[in-house]
Amino acid sequence: MSENSFNVAALAGDGIGPEVMAEALKVLRAVEGRFGVTLNITEAPVGWAGIDAAGKALPDETFELCRNSNAILFGSVGLPDRDPTIPKEERPERAALLRLRKEFGLFANLRPVTLPKQLAHACPLKPERQGEGIDMLVVRELTGGMYFGQPKTTELVTQKDSVNPEDKKKTRRILRYERAIDTMVYTEPEIERIAHVGFKAAQLRRKKLTSIDKANVLENGILWRKVVERVAKNYPDVKLEHMFVDNGAMQMMLNPTQFDVMLCENMFGDILSDEAAALAGSLGMLPSASLGNTEAGITFGLYEPAGGTAPDIAGKNLANPIAQILSSAMMLRYSFGLNEAANAIDAAVSKAISDGCRTGDIFSSHDPGARRIGTSEMGDAIAAAI
Ligand code: NAD
Repeated sequence: MSENSFNVAALAGDGIGPEVMAEALKVLRAVEGRFGVTLNITEAPVGWAGIDAAGKALPDETFELCRNSNAILFGSVGLPDRDPTIPKEERPERAALLRLRKEFGLFANLRPVTLPKQLAHACPLKPERQGEGIDMLVVRELTGGMYFGQPKTTELVTQKDSVNPEDKKKTRRILRYERAIDTMVYTEPEIERIAHVGFKAAQLRRKKLTSIDKANVLENGILWRKVVERVAKNYPDVKLEHMFVDNGAMQMMLNPTQFDVMLCENMFGDILSDEAAALAGSLGMLPSASLGNTEAGITFGLYEPAGGTAPDIAGKNLANPIAQILSSAMMLRYSFGLNEAANAIDAAVSKAISDGCRTGDIFSSHDPGARRIGTSEMGDAIAAAI
């Protein structure tokens, strides 16, 4: 593989997956032509498409292809009417997506949330709170914290309890109840590696990082803050600030434009990234990246839209392909270091929106100059703007 040639596994999946993937590939082909890179893209089935083709949500051949690729461009998987017909562990999201995250050690989840000024109407916040447009990136640790810490269990507790302390006969009753335990654990190396991802991402943006914790209450928060401050010394060009998670949730509603990169542990990131996503108005606009380790300058990653398979609009040329197209831009930026090409895709998306191109999810009849178009026309407009 030469310096300018990369192997990509394109797994479109189910529902709107194939439609939006086709548009992302169209845009990547336009990028190849303009930037002189070679993308060896191989398509393979996953999800129900995998079950139908090879009896498994993640067929062996698809998994092998991923192992031989530098990055995975993923659509989405799962169909609500078919999922309940098979055991939970064989269902597409668990058997394909979660397995890929685990097998490839994808520890960093990046979710950019961008609300261009032209789409102000799609945002639930008042226009005066949106400033010149919202543009932030939530970096979430994906493999540690409360979701995975041990012990993790629900147990039955039996306790003898005095009914009344004044009672001379010391009558006692037996209390039985369940107790649930989740353990929040982070180690210094886990915090360090996600902090590096956050600071590096900030260097590619407006160079500000807000680290989220609960250092006023949690031991985890104290360690998180200490390690992030230590890692910050390697990135003197990035301005670091700390914020308690409760205040972070509130600030996102009051003044979202203050944020550039928001760095979070797993659970806080899960909650805050969904809160941030609501600001963009449509799932069809939100890309994401899940990153693993870096070898020989290439960071392995899985890139996918934040939304699901949208069966309500699948096969009708109605889906917004922008989330998938922006996911492919993230792949160029974070896995292959092709920043100029990634920026060209972002700019092409902005141009299509400025020119009035709108799929149904971002269309408003009060928006002067907006034209309602289909999935493939949106892809054409973006590819043409590369
Ligand atoms: P969904 O994200 O598929 O749809 C929610 C709403 O958002 C729908 O109204 C849909 O039309 C709309 N929407 C989503 N993407 C859109 C796009 N690109 N353009 C325009 N509108 C869009 O969520 P759901 O309905 O809860 O789930 C449907 C299926 O997708 C389920 O089987 C679920 O398990 C699966 N799912 C998969 C993933 C994944 O593969 N990562 C993520 C979420 C849900």
